[in-house]
Amino acid sequence: SLAGLDDPLPTPNRTQDRSHPSVAPSTVGAFRNEPDTDSALAGNRAWALRVLERSADSTLGVDTIAAAAVTDAAALETIVAGAVAAGTGWGATPAHDRARILHDAGDVLAAFRGRLVEVMASETGKTIGEADVEVSEAVDFAHYYAERALDLDHVTGARFVPSTLIVVTPPWNFPVAIPAGSVLSALASGAAVIIKPAPQARRCAAVMIEALWEAGVPREVLQLVDIEEGELGRALIADPRVDRVILTGAWETAALFRSWRPELPLLAETSGKNAIIVTPSADLDLAVADVVRSAFGHAGQKCSAASLVILVGSVASSERFRRQLVGSARAVRVGYPQDPTVEMGPIVEPAHGKLLSALTELAPGEEWLVKPRQLDETQRLWSPGVKAGVAPGSAFHLTEYFGPVLGIMTARTLDEAIALQNASDYGLTAGLHSLDPDEVAHWIDTVDAGNLYVNRGITGAIVRRQPFGGWKRSAVGTGAKAGGPNYLLTLGSWVAVAEET
Ligand code: GLU
Repeated sequence: SLAGLDDPLPTPNRTQDRSHPSVAPSTVGAFRNEPDTDSALAGNRAWALRVLERSADSTLGVDTIAAAAVTDAAALETIVAGAVAAGTGWGATPAHDRARILHDAGDVLAAFRGRLVEVMASETGKTIGEADVEVSEAVDFAHYYAERALDLDHVTGARFVPSTLIVVTPPWNFPVAIPAGSVLSALASGAAVIIKPAPQARRCAAVMIEALWEAGVPREVLQLVDIEEGELGRALIADPRVDRVILTGAWETAALFRSWRPELPLLAETSGKNAIIVTPSADLDLAVADVVRSAFGHAGQKCSAASLVILVGSVASSERFRRQLVGSARAVRVGYPQDPTVEMGPIVEPAHGKLLSALTELAPGEEWLVKPRQLDETQRLWSPGVKAGVAPGSAFHLTEYFGPVLGIMTARTLDEAIALQNASDYGLTAGLHSLDPDEVAHWIDTVDAGNLYVNRGITGAIVRRQPFGGWKRSAVGTGAKAGGPNYLLTLGSWVAVAEET
């Protein structure tokens, strides 16, 4: 029950009814996506201002994360042993009971919308728009995986055996939706969970976990640990009692985990280098808007972000396209999220390494159409950059930077553009802007990526509508898509019993 839930900021009005029917096997398919906050409503704008004001000196999650600190091997051992014991019991509960708790978790996450937006803006600098959709996604994961848990009992000829313990290591760029999705999927499948948040987004994870505990997920079944990425982290991943690890992060991290434990069952969503192709048949106005949104949303810090736009044939020499792209990139309002009109916030940490070089340096043949500017002394606030002349095979063509820089490449034909798009080691998202159905059909058949988007932006996959996950180096492990029908099926083992009677 939600009674007694003391959310300091009540959930705002929505344009849609948020109520969900209670779950029963016969209601599979009742899932509906949670609406985002409608900022056209004056009450919601007032709510947003209060949330952002509080984010300026928010302390949400501080106590919870402090209590989760684990500093020695003995403490970690107690947690793992406790989680294993709890997981055995949790996996034996009927899927129906787990589903009910997950539905409640969705409702509590929705009721926590204000807190979650506050802590995301405070800790990671996410703008209110980007943070708000993330809460909706987390709520969706809860309700969707609750329904999918019921499917596990209805596979003909085989029985699902849950994992006992799943470790979740989420990223900082979607500091609520991704940890929520990973944790909720594991819980739905019947496993106990230990989650180790990303250091840049610990408080976000803590507030999200508070919501799940509040909803009735037992604390032994869902444990939050804050450990240094060193010996203890390695000990956790290498522990044979950990049945699976759900990782979202760099491909290199997945490789590191595998080096610690070669046989580790891993479900990893790892990195991207994504391009949008624009052909001469495209609606160029729409293409510019989608490219800019996909490149600079959350300051480019999405695995799904557009890092390249590949212009085909006459688009490559179109002055109008170039002018519009430059104008739109310059018009992006950059700042800190406490200003609700800001469209692009700071990057999560001061720019360094390869991102700093991508923001400040050009390779031979490249030129700035829009040069990124460092807007204050924090090294976190940068204006968007657009560079032309990115050469095939160059560093900018093939490296993921995770920041607000877009590169332009050109191709004579669609096939040449697809070859450039497919040259990446990664294969997460890919976009095409074309109004020619033959081009669209050919592209869909030829492009090597897990999530394809036609005549729209390439970020912001919606649970159930766009199950999310990539190919090639964008996935390690099963490659099952998050927010899709098969994800839970990969979180346990299957047994088929043949018996003569
Ligand atoms: N699911 C997110 C999207 O569709 C991207 C997740 C990520 O960056 O890891 O934009």
